Amino acid sequence: MASLPRTSRAAVLSAPRQRVEIREIEILPPEAGAIVAKVEAATVCGTDVHIWEGDLQPEWPVGMGHEMVGRVAALGEGVVRDAADQPLQPGDRIVWAYPWCGKCYYCTIARQPSLCPNARMNGWRSAEKYPFLCGGFAEYCYILPQCRPVKVPDEVDSKVASSATCALRTVVHGFERLHAYGGIGVEPSVVILGTGPVGLYSLAMAIVSGAGQTISIGAPQRRIDLAHKWGATHTINLDEVTDSRERVEMVKKWTEGRGADLVIDAAGPAQAFSDGIEMIRRGGRMLVIGQATKKTVPFNPRMINHEMLEIIGVVSAHVTHFYKAMQFLKNHGERFNFSDMITNEYPLARVTEALQSMAALQEIKPAIIPTMS
Ligand SMILES: [Zn+2]
Ligand SMILES: [Zn+2]
Repeated sequence: MASLPRTSRAAVLSAPRQRVEIREIEILPPEAGAIVAKVEAATVCGTDVHIWEGDLQPEWPVGMGHEMVGRVAALGEGVVRDAADQPLQPGDRIVWAYPWCGKCYYCTIARQPSLCPNARMNGWRSAEKYPFLCGGFAEYCYILPQCRPVKVPDEVDSKVASSATCALRTVVHGFERLHAYGGIGVEPSVVILGTGPVGLYSLAMAIVSGAGQTISIGAPQRRIDLAHKWGATHTINLDEVTDSRERVEMVKKWTEGRGADLVIDAAGPAQAFSDGIEMIRRGGRMLVIGQATKKTVPFNPRMINHEMLEIIGVVSAHVTHFYKAMQFLKNHGERFNFSDMITNEYPLARVTEALQSMAALQEIKPAIIPTMS
């Protein structure tokens, strides 16, 4: 414990569209069950951009960042193993799940902890309230006793592991939800709406899960190129094919006129949902992961029964999905070069530029490296 510094630099946003400031924040020694981790790498999620743009309302002033990987700096009393029963020691690289309460209806009876109303999400909380250091864009993070840590396999790069702590673990959770509804099937045709990190991870997971045909739809060209490189059988660049009816026709043409067995909505705009519904075959399914808008779109509910559509949603993830995301990266790192997604590195002082660059779609996944100056 003596090795812990007294304070940590941390990126704090006081109001939307402000410049992210770097504050010196006290590092509390870990209470029983807690961990203090030194952040090795953090990554910017689309949600961080939505917070910065004012679309989402965190506690202000917010300690930013919810995708991160740290090295154990200090262990609180009683912390000896990670969630997968592996021994945990100072210096180990870890990711960690959110602190669900473990006591409410959603945590216990429904067993859907990602719906826990008492969760205190990293990257959403005030930097002025206990335990102060909950955001990943910081030198150190305080990991509450309710969070479960998962060790990062040696084979997995820290920036890639970081990108998995929101994007990939949610995709893993989504695919698990699909399995609850009969799996993805044998050689299905899969449309993936969105070529950001959630869309690219969905593509990789669809391929590994046995998709026969994968159609990635997104923009700009750099992301489309990556979807191709990772194995998408077809792609549509939204900047080139701007008419949604034309996109639907292209998907129909590639799927023998029927439409896809499964559409994964890993985009942000509400329009993507409307497009996706038109792309599903009769009796097909849609997994909604990426919707981030408050905008509504017209939808005829009769399609659900007459066309026998299944629409499945997912939010966030449980500790099991963090673990499986790490295993996915370890097991398929040779098939997919996941580092392709990390397009830049920024020091803490330039978090604002990273957010601006992400908002302008100039990045796929920028990394924040707290030790960089
Ligand atoms: Zn709960
Ligand atoms: Zn996120």
